[in-house]
Amino acid sequence: MSASAEPSIFSRIVAREIPATILAETERVIAIADIAPKAPVHILVVPKTEQYANVTELAAGDPGLLAEVVAVSNQLAAEHSDGDFRLIFNSGPGAGQTVFHVHAHVLAWPGGASEEG
Ligand code: 5GP
Repeated sequence: MSASAEPSIFSRIVAREIPATILAETERVIAIADIAPKAPVHILVVPKTEQYANVTELAAGDPGLLAEVVAVSNQLAAEHSDGDFRLIFNSGPGAGQTVFHVHAHVLAWPGGASEEG
């Protein structure tokens, strides 16, 4: 658990305390549909541990787990789109991070490129 006493929203999803559309799950990672999608495919790939607040901490603390997040992201982009995807880790409030339990945003546009380029 992070410094705060309360489990994160993602830990509560892992514990099935609150509902989510679960798209993949391994021993160490869960993937869910984002509740407020910003692209036709918007999936969150989340290490089950909330020990790491952001990708920098994850990379330093457990690079194998980071590699698993990337591998699951790649697999989901193949399943839900044409295999091309954008992988985003917001890191810090100034970058828009709102949940301080590391997670990757997988964004994909089946059949077409993002308008943002
Ligand atoms: P951040 O802004 O921290 O990078 O991303 C947090 C993401 O979590 C946002 O895209 C937001 O829509 C998503 N989110 C927040 N609460 C929930 C929830 O209860 N369920 C799901 N599925 N996604 C959530």
